[in-house]
Amino acid sequence: MPGYESERFVNLCQSDREEFSCSICQDILRAPVVAKCCRQTFCEDCITNWLSAETTCPYDRQPLSTDGLSHPPRLLLNMLSKLQISCDFKDNGCQEVVTLEQLTHHTYRCPYGLGKCKQCLCSEQKVGHSCVQSLLLLNRKVSQANSVLKRELLLAMTRNGETSAADEILVPVSQLQRLIDENIEMKAEIEIKPQSAPVATDDESEPIATNRCCVIL
Ligand SMILES: [Zn+2]
Ligand SMILES: [Zn+2]
Ligand SMILES: [Zn+2]
Ligand SMILES: [Zn+2]
Repeated sequence: MPGYESERFVNLCQSDREEFSCSICQDILRAPVVAKCCRQTFCEDCITNWLSAETTCPYDRQPLSTDGLSHPPRLLLNMLSKLQISCDFKDNGCQEVVTLEQLTHHTYRCPYGLGKCKQCLCSEQKVGHSCVQSLLLLNRKVSQANSVLKRELLLAMTRNGETSAADEILVPVSQLQRLIDENIEMKAEIEIKPQSAPVATDDESEPIATNRCCVIL
Protein backbone atom coordinates (compact mmCIF):
# COMPACT_ATOMS: atom_id res chain seq x y z
CA MET A 1 0.00 0.00 0.00
CA PRO A 2 1.25 3.50 -0.76
CA GLY A 3 1.29 6.27 1.86
CA TYR A 4 -1.58 8.01 3.64
CA GLU A 5 -3.29 10.80 1.68
CA SER A 6 -2.12 14.06 3.20
CA GLU A 7 -5.70 15.43 3.07
CA ARG A 8 -6.60 12.97 5.83
CA PHE A 9 -4.30 14.69 8.34
CA VAL A 10 -5.49 17.40 10.67
CA ASN A 11 -3.32 20.50 11.18
CA LEU A 12 -0.53 19.21 8.96
CA CYS A 13 1.74 22.17 8.23
CA GLN A 14 3.62 22.51 4.96
CA SER A 15 7.02 21.68 6.48
CA ASP A 16 5.66 18.48 8.09
CA ARG A 17 4.02 17.55 4.82
CA GLU A 18 7.37 17.84 3.05
CA GLU A 19 9.35 16.12 5.78
CA PHE A 20 7.00 13.14 6.08
CA SER A 21 6.12 12.58 2.44
CA CYS A 22 7.30 9.62 0.39
CA SER A 23 9.43 10.53 -2.63
CA ILE A 24 7.58 7.98 -4.76
CA CYS A 25 3.87 8.31 -3.97
CA GLN A 26 4.11 11.88 -2.57
CA ASP A 27 1.73 10.84 0.23
CA ILE A 28 2.53 10.67 3.95
CA LEU A 29 4.94 7.81 4.75
CA ARG A 30 3.49 4.40 5.58
CA ALA A 31 6.00 2.02 7.25
CA PRO A 32 8.95 4.19 6.13
CA VAL A 33 12.42 2.96 5.18
CA VAL A 34 15.57 4.91 4.34
CA ALA A 35 17.74 4.47 1.24
CA LYS A 36 21.44 4.38 2.12
CA CYS A 37 22.50 6.31 -0.99
CA CYS A 38 20.65 9.57 -0.34
CA ARG A 39 18.99 9.09 3.09
CA GLN A 40 15.62 9.65 1.43
CA THR A 41 12.61 8.04 3.11
CA PHE A 42 10.06 6.00 1.19
CA CYS A 43 7.05 3.90 2.11
CA GLU A 44 8.34 0.36 2.39
CA ASP A 45 5.81 -0.89 -0.17
CA CYS A 46 6.58 1.94 -2.60
CA ILE A 47 10.33 1.35 -2.68
CA THR A 48 10.23 -2.46 -2.65
CA ASN A 49 7.72 -2.30 -5.48
CA TRP A 50 10.03 0.07 -7.37
CA LEU A 51 13.08 -2.13 -6.75
CA SER A 52 11.29 -5.23 -8.01
CA ALA A 53 11.61 -3.69 -11.49
CA GLU A 54 14.55 -1.26 -11.10
CA THR A 55 18.14 -1.48 -9.85
CA THR A 56 18.65 2.20 -9.02
CA CYS A 57 17.27 4.64 -6.45
CA PRO A 58 14.30 6.64 -7.77
CA TYR A 59 15.65 9.77 -6.07
CA ASP A 60 19.33 9.98 -7.09
CA ARG A 61 19.66 7.09 -9.58
CA GLN A 62 22.44 5.47 -7.55
CA PRO A 63 22.59 1.65 -7.62
CA LEU A 64 20.18 0.35 -4.97
CA SER A 65 18.63 -2.94 -3.87
CA THR A 66 16.46 -3.84 -0.88
CA ASP A 67 19.68 -4.61 1.04
CA GLY A 68 20.39 -0.88 0.94
CA LEU A 69 17.20 -0.03 2.84
CA SER A 70 17.21 0.54 6.59
CA HIS A 71 14.95 1.69 9.41
CA PRO A 72 14.48 5.44 9.72
CA PRO A 73 15.69 7.35 12.80
CA ARG A 74 13.52 6.84 15.89
CA LEU A 75 12.87 10.58 16.08
CA LEU A 76 11.19 10.53 12.67
CA LEU A 77 9.07 7.52 13.63
CA ASN A 78 8.02 9.21 16.86
CA MET A 79 7.01 12.42 15.13
CA LEU A 80 5.17 10.48 12.44
CA SER A 81 3.27 8.43 15.01
CA LYS A 82 1.91 11.59 16.65
CA LEU A 83 0.32 13.03 13.49
CA GLN A 84 -3.46 13.30 13.67
CA ILE A 85 -5.35 11.43 10.96
CA SER A 86 -9.02 10.86 10.19
CA CYS A 87 -10.44 7.34 10.31
CA ASP A 88 -10.17 5.00 7.29
CA PHE A 89 -13.97 4.91 7.28
CA LYS A 90 -14.59 8.65 7.27
CA ASP A 91 -16.60 8.26 4.05
CA ASN A 92 -18.85 5.80 5.90
CA GLY A 93 -19.56 8.48 8.51
CA CYS A 94 -16.86 8.01 11.17
CA GLN A 95 -15.81 11.38 12.60
CA GLU A 96 -12.91 10.05 14.68
CA VAL A 97 -9.50 11.67 14.44
CA VAL A 98 -6.71 9.59 15.99
CA THR A 99 -2.92 9.62 16.05
CA LEU A 100 -1.23 7.56 13.37
CA GLU A 101 -0.01 5.09 15.98
CA GLN A 102 -3.62 4.52 17.14
CA LEU A 103 -5.03 4.18 13.63
CA THR A 104 -4.71 0.40 13.26
CA HIS A 105 -6.28 -0.16 16.66
CA HIS A 106 -9.14 2.20 15.86
CA THR A 107 -9.73 0.78 12.37
CA TYR A 108 -10.10 -2.68 13.84
CA ARG A 109 -12.78 -1.56 16.27
CA CYS A 110 -14.42 1.17 14.19
CA PRO A 111 -18.20 0.60 14.08
CA TYR A 112 -18.24 2.18 10.61
CA GLY A 113 -15.82 -0.43 9.26
CA LEU A 114 -16.68 -2.90 6.56
CA GLY A 115 -17.64 -6.47 7.27
CA LYS A 116 -18.96 -7.79 10.55
CA CYS A 117 -20.16 -5.75 13.50
CA LYS A 118 -17.30 -5.67 16.02
CA GLN A 119 -19.72 -6.06 18.94
CA CYS A 120 -22.16 -8.81 17.99
CA LEU A 121 -20.39 -10.19 14.87
CA CYS A 122 -23.55 -10.07 12.80
CA SER A 123 -22.40 -10.19 9.19
CA GLU A 124 -24.88 -7.62 7.93
CA GLN A 125 -23.09 -4.62 9.34
CA LYS A 126 -25.33 -1.59 9.60
CA VAL A 127 -24.15 1.64 11.18
CA GLY A 128 -26.01 2.33 14.40
CA HIS A 129 -27.86 -1.01 14.43
CA SER A 130 -28.87 -2.55 17.73
CA CYS A 131 -26.62 -5.45 18.71
CA VAL A 132 -29.32 -6.67 21.13
CA GLN A 133 -31.80 -6.90 18.23
CA SER A 134 -29.25 -8.79 16.12
CA LEU A 135 -28.63 -11.25 18.94
CA LEU A 136 -32.37 -11.73 19.53
CA LEU A 137 -32.80 -12.48 15.82
CA LEU A 138 -29.95 -14.97 15.98
CA ASN A 139 -31.52 -16.52 19.04
CA ARG A 140 -34.82 -16.93 17.17
CA LYS A 141 -33.03 -18.63 14.26
CA VAL A 142 -31.32 -21.03 16.65
CA SER A 143 -34.66 -21.80 18.32
CA GLN A 144 -36.19 -22.59 14.94
CA ALA A 145 -33.25 -24.83 14.07
CA ASN A 146 -33.76 -26.57 17.41
CA SER A 147 -37.41 -27.26 16.61
CA VAL A 148 -36.47 -28.79 13.27
CA LEU A 149 -33.85 -30.97 14.96
CA LYS A 150 -36.35 -32.06 17.60
CA ARG A 151 -38.89 -33.05 14.94
CA GLU A 152 -36.27 -35.00 12.98
CA LEU A 153 -35.17 -36.73 16.14
CA LEU A 154 -38.72 -37.77 17.01
CA LEU A 155 -39.27 -39.03 13.46
CA ALA A 156 -36.07 -41.06 13.58
CA MET A 157 -37.03 -42.54 16.95
CA THR A 158 -40.50 -43.59 15.83
CA ARG A 159 -39.21 -44.95 12.50
CA ASN A 160 -36.52 -47.11 14.02
CA GLY A 161 -37.91 -47.85 17.45
CA GLU A 162 -36.14 -46.18 20.31
CA THR A 163 -33.76 -49.00 21.24
CA SER A 164 -32.57 -50.09 17.79
CA ALA A 165 -31.74 -46.52 16.80
CA ALA A 166 -29.84 -45.82 20.00
CA ASP A 167 -26.43 -45.63 18.34
CA GLU A 168 -27.67 -43.39 15.59
CA ILE A 169 -29.46 -41.10 17.97
CA LEU A 170 -26.67 -40.81 20.51
CA VAL A 171 -24.84 -38.05 18.61
CA PRO A 172 -27.87 -35.97 17.58
CA VAL A 173 -29.22 -36.06 21.15
CA SER A 174 -25.99 -34.72 22.60
CA GLN A 175 -25.79 -32.05 19.90
CA LEU A 176 -29.39 -31.12 20.47
CA GLN A 177 -28.86 -30.91 24.22
CA ARG A 178 -25.84 -28.67 23.69
CA LEU A 179 -27.84 -26.37 21.41
CA ILE A 180 -30.69 -26.18 23.90
CA ASP A 181 -28.31 -25.43 26.77
CA GLU A 182 -26.63 -22.69 24.79
CA ASN A 183 -29.96 -21.32 23.76
CA ILE A 184 -31.04 -21.02 27.40
CA GLU A 185 -27.72 -19.43 28.37
CA MET A 186 -28.02 -16.96 25.51
CA LYS A 187 -31.54 -15.96 26.49
CA ALA A 188 -30.42 -15.37 30.04
CA GLU A 189 -27.47 -13.33 28.85
CA ILE A 190 -29.55 -11.19 26.51
CA GLU A 191 -32.01 -10.43 29.30
CA ILE A 192 -29.33 -8.93 31.50
CA LYS A 193 -27.76 -6.85 28.71
CA PRO A 194 -28.62 -3.14 28.51
CA GLN A 195 -31.20 -2.35 25.82
CA SER A 196 -29.09 0.20 23.98
CA ALA A 197 -26.51 -0.84 21.41
CA PRO A 198 -23.02 -0.59 22.88
CA VAL A 199 -20.74 1.83 21.10
CA ALA A 200 -17.20 0.77 20.26
CA THR A 201 -14.80 2.05 22.86
CA ASP A 202 -11.08 1.96 23.18
CA ASP A 203 -11.04 -0.38 26.14
CA GLU A 204 -10.20 -4.05 25.81
CA SER A 205 -13.53 -5.45 27.00
CA GLU A 206 -14.82 -8.58 25.30
CA PRO A 207 -17.41 -8.05 22.56
CA ILE A 208 -20.84 -9.21 23.74
CA ALA A 209 -21.51 -12.92 23.31
CA THR A 210 -18.73 -13.25 20.75
CA ASN A 211 -17.79 -16.74 21.83
CA ARG A 212 -21.33 -17.92 21.95
CA CYS A 213 -22.06 -16.62 18.44
CA CYS A 214 -19.04 -18.46 17.12
CA VAL A 215 -20.06 -21.72 18.77
CA ILE A 216 -23.56 -21.64 17.35
CA LEU A 217 -22.69 -20.40 13.89
ZN1 LIG B 1 5.00 5.99 -0.81
ZN1 LIG C 1 19.06 7.35 -3.27
ZN1 LIG D 1 -13.60 5.06 12.62
ZN1 LIG E 1 -23.79 -5.40 16.40
